Amino acid sequence: MKIRFCGAAQEVTGSQHLLTVNGKKILLDCGMFQGRRAETRRKNETFEFTPAEVDKLILSHAHIDHSGNIPTLVKRGFDGDIFSTRATVDLCNIMLRDSAHIQEKDAEWLEKKRGEKIEPLYRLEDVEKAMQQFVGLQYLRPFTVLPGVQVTFQDAGHILGSAGVLLEIEEKGKTRRCGFSGDIGRNNLPIIHDPDYLSDVEVLIMESTYGNREHADIENLADELATIVRAVHRRGGKIIVPAFAIGRTQALVYFLHKLWDQNRIPDLPIYVDSPLAVDATGVYRLHPECFDRETHRLFLEDGQDPFGFKRLNYIRDVEDSKKLNEIKTPCMIISASGMAETGRILHHLKNNIGDPRNCVLLIGFMAEHTLGRRLADGAEAVKIFGEIYQRRCEVRQLSGMSAHADRSDLLDFLRRHDPGKLKHIFLVHGELEPMTALAAGIRSLGFQNVYTPKEGEEFEV
Ligand SMILES: [Zn+2]
Repeated sequence: MKIRFCGAAQEVTGSQHLLTVNGKKILLDCGMFQGRRAETRRKNETFEFTPAEVDKLILSHAHIDHSGNIPTLVKRGFDGDIFSTRATVDLCNIMLRDSAHIQEKDAEWLEKKRGEKIEPLYRLEDVEKAMQQFVGLQYLRPFTVLPGVQVTFQDAGHILGSAGVLLEIEEKGKTRRCGFSGDIGRNNLPIIHDPDYLSDVEVLIMESTYGNREHADIENLADELATIVRAVHRRGGKIIVPAFAIGRTQALVYFLHKLWDQNRIPDLPIYVDSPLAVDATGVYRLHPECFDRETHRLFLEDGQDPFGFKRLNYIRDVEDSKKLNEIKTPCMIISASGMAETGRILHHLKNNIGDPRNCVLLIGFMAEHTLGRRLADGAEAVKIFGEIYQRRCEVRQLSGMSAHADRSDLLDFLRRHDPGKLKHIFLVHGELEPMTALAAGIRSLGFQNVYTPKEGEEFEV
């Protein structure tokens, strides 16, 4: 078996790993690369392989850095099956359409700016074709995707429908268990189940996003969130939250709902201003089989909607979104994109970061070269829509909101494996520093072959 690392190699976006087994090609994830504009377009347009030669695609979860380049793959000639969980199919159905819309708008904007014809990375029609290729599977139901290759999805506990992938591969008369971690979640995240860890594998491709950091406890998160909301409300400010439309938004709404029911946050309006988040919340409601016991007990058993309460408003219409600018009293605005690179959040940041009463609350991972990262790093002036804005508002981070395993969780993941059996560990989906730190931690547990592959590198295992 060969493994070629084609994306999210020593970085966090553009997840793509190509397996060659018995002469067939299986792609694990087909994520979009996100970062600096010029590089982004080039990297997403070119693949480390010929798309038409890929036989099957296995998708770990719906986040755009794992799924977002599927329509380009299809546009370039891939016509095989795309296997994922059923919730992932439903989430991709809305996310990829939204992504096509962003690509089309982006091309229009560039076309005007440069005065030349620009073709979008992909269009809605490419997404529609891609959606016809999806095959939805249940967790823990093994499925033969190719002769000699059986796939089982295990709940990764990261977002709705997220999966770790177990591949049982028969090659040259021998069966081997190989694992692809996807993004690994955490215990006690709201809404979804705790991670169901892969075990007993011989080869493992594993994420390393937080390989050198520990998160704050989830248990303290509600307290911390309530404290911030109360403080900003007292000083008459607004709280602006860039949040991924899928996952982070629903988790935050869940916490706010609980705090509201317990009278622990003041009476202020909360807006989820993102059509995609509204749609994604609809998909969450369709998949209660993915919810944990607490969500069933606290909300569903009483006939309550975990994603709705009196002070919460979902905004789809662009005119209603613009009206949020006129609000002069305290409120909370949750909007996408999660790293503050595109979308309505940019308008809310532009309008609110100059006021010291306000607070920008960061709740997710912010990749290098994104506006979210610059705010997290304490920048005093930032560029939004090509203009410089002074930041006078407070910036707070809730690291406990992360849906990614931290260093201890990642090392615990490995402690379930036997260094005698697990022969090859490939670290992906991490910047070089955390990845290197994690590799050292893993070696100290007794594992021998721990690699941090570069993009384009191929290994025979
Ligand atoms: Zn993810």
